[in-house]
Amino acid sequence: MPQYNPPLRDMQFVLHELLHAVDELKLLPAHAEIDEDTVNAVLEEGGKFAKEVLTPINLSGDQEGCTLDKATHEVKAPKGFKEAYAQYVEGGWPALSCDPEYGGQGLPVLLNQFMYEMMNSANQAWTMYPGLSHGAYEALHAHGTPEQKSTYLPKLTSGVWTGTMCLTEPHCGTDLGLLRSKAEPQADGSYKITGQKIFISAGEHDLAENIIHLVLARLPDAPQGSKGISLFVVPKFKVNADGSLGERNPVYCGGLEHKMGIHGNATAQIVLDGAVGTLVGQPNKGLQAMFVMMNAARLGVGNQSLGLTEVAYQNAVVYAKDRIQMRALSGPKAPDKAADPIIVHPDVRKMLLTARAFAEGGRALSAYTALQLDKALSSDDADERKACEDEVALLTPIIKAFISDNAWIATSHCMQVFGGHGYIHEWGMEQFVRDSRINMTYEGTNTVQSLDLLGRKILANNGATLKKFGKKIAEFVEEEGTSEAMQEFINPLADIGDKVTKLTTEIGMKAFQNPDEVGAAAVDYLRVVGHLCFAYMWARMAKLALEKKDGGDPFYTAKLSTARFYFAKLLPETASLIRTARAGLNPLMEMDEALF
Ligand SMILES: Cc1cc2nc3c(=O)[nH]c(=O)nc-3n(C[C@H](O)[C@H](O)[C@H](O)COP(=O)(O)OP(=O)(O)OC[C@H]3O[C@@H](n4cnc5c(N)ncnc54)[C@H](O)[C@@H]3O)c2cc1C
Repeated sequence: MPQYNPPLRDMQFVLHELLHAVDELKLLPAHAEIDEDTVNAVLEEGGKFAKEVLTPINLSGDQEGCTLDKATHEVKAPKGFKEAYAQYVEGGWPALSCDPEYGGQGLPVLLNQFMYEMMNSANQAWTMYPGLSHGAYEALHAHGTPEQKSTYLPKLTSGVWTGTMCLTEPHCGTDLGLLRSKAEPQADGSYKITGQKIFISAGEHDLAENIIHLVLARLPDAPQGSKGISLFVVPKFKVNADGSLGERNPVYCGGLEHKMGIHGNATAQIVLDGAVGTLVGQPNKGLQAMFVMMNAARLGVGNQSLGLTEVAYQNAVVYAKDRIQMRALSGPKAPDKAADPIIVHPDVRKMLLTARAFAEGGRALSAYTALQLDKALSSDDADERKACEDEVALLTPIIKAFISDNAWIATSHCMQVFGGHGYIHEWGMEQFVRDSRINMTYEGTNTVQSLDLLGRKILANNGATLKKFGKKIAEFVEEEGTSEAMQEFINPLADIGDKVTKLTTEIGMKAFQNPDEVGAAAVDYLRVVGHLCFAYMWARMAKLALEKKDGGDPFYTAKLSTARFYFAKLLPETASLIRTARAGLNPLMEMDEALF
């Protein structure tokens, strides 16, 4: 069975040495009291919960899956999931970064992010139950009426109730403008919602006493397309005026999907048969309100992928040191054994280092973004809030798509380190690969993320936000440009920065002639910009490692070697990506559809 050890040292490095997070957070009125000891203690306790409670039920949860009782429409999560959730609630973990007004602990998003990384490493399927709830909490917190907030937020904060996100319908996934679920206004101000949703994560289960569905539907006479969508909150059990549970609302699980991975999470078909709900936000403005949840979920998916990359890496390293096969080409490295451990072989190291560089780079970038999000939420300076909001909006599709694409590569490499044993269930490695695959698809496929990045976040504002982010990189390049030791990192960082600028302009010009050029280049483009972000993080980490490596702590020596690996073996992928992005639309569209 796979093991998991929370990477606390690396988390502390990112928080305290790379980002100086406590100093930055203290400047925000909401976090003026935060200190390093609290941060470290939360991480340590959170890590124990992930390792001791969630890891042991990951493999078994995958094997057992969820079961639906067709007569009652009730779903049972795998053995141990309910008990683990009870422990999670008892520990107060759902409340970590929630608003104190509703019973939350008011700690930074950044800390919650690390907590979720650890839980995702330990058990992604389980972690989706609280993950979806937290997204529902955020959407209601931002857009709920005072009554909705007082009814739902304290229970979502404590974790006694969980939440879902009901967007997808059988005929509509990416294009939500096509959705058909209907909401009929009632005399008492509520709505009766009818329709069918599919693929609803954590849609039905036995972990919590109530499930709060956030549902997109259309009002009568709503405009066609995405401008006619409204958001409703629909509880599984209606809630009485005193907060107690009332009668069952007709919102049922009609079936569970049999799927490739995350078996422990119930992916439910949800039937709404005149279920009673209330409107969240403005009529026909449901997508804007839902975007709060979708953006949180997109960062969450990056975090799921980071968690899987880390745990796959940890297990592959243990195996590679233990498994002996063949001798090193340069002669025996373990002459006392019948063969050398496979970690001596260059390509095994390449697979391990790829996963490590993706995990540590992803952790740095995700934490950097979470810190910007804390500033966007809590700064008392309106300009800073806006600048941070824009930066988070720019980085969100990159975190979602780049880190999940990387996790697919990394988990597959780590499985490969196990040879044929990686393909066998009991080692747990094939589960990481299967679990990671959905991260490239849900919450808007990675193609859709790349269109969002290039089209909406970059070209639509003439690259203004990208330029601001680029300015930070340019300042770092300037500061470190004279350091000889940093040249091996600064030169390629400056180079990829220039190339991104040129590529963006070139695609922008082509898109004037034909907007389909954006679709032709976007996926390659996102990966190039993802590497720009990673190169920036890795160069900053390399600087710290260079400064501290002579102090005798091997952590910095390893960091420096991983940075060198990243710049030498992973970043150069951008050369071919830029070529394929520049190859443009014609090779894709030349062939007549009939010839496919
Ligand atoms: C396990 C699982 C859990 C999920 N959880 C939830 C959930 O909790 N709540 C929820 O509402 N939904 C959920 N989903 C649904 C998920 O978000 C959708 O499957 C996803 O958004 C894609 O929609 P689709 O499957 O209809 O594919 P489609 O939209 O039909 O897309 C098919 C393909 O066409 C591509 N495509 C579409 N439009 C374009 C375009 N303009 N340019 C280029 N390519 C395009 C897509 O990228 C994709 O490759 C879940 C799905 C799964 C499998």
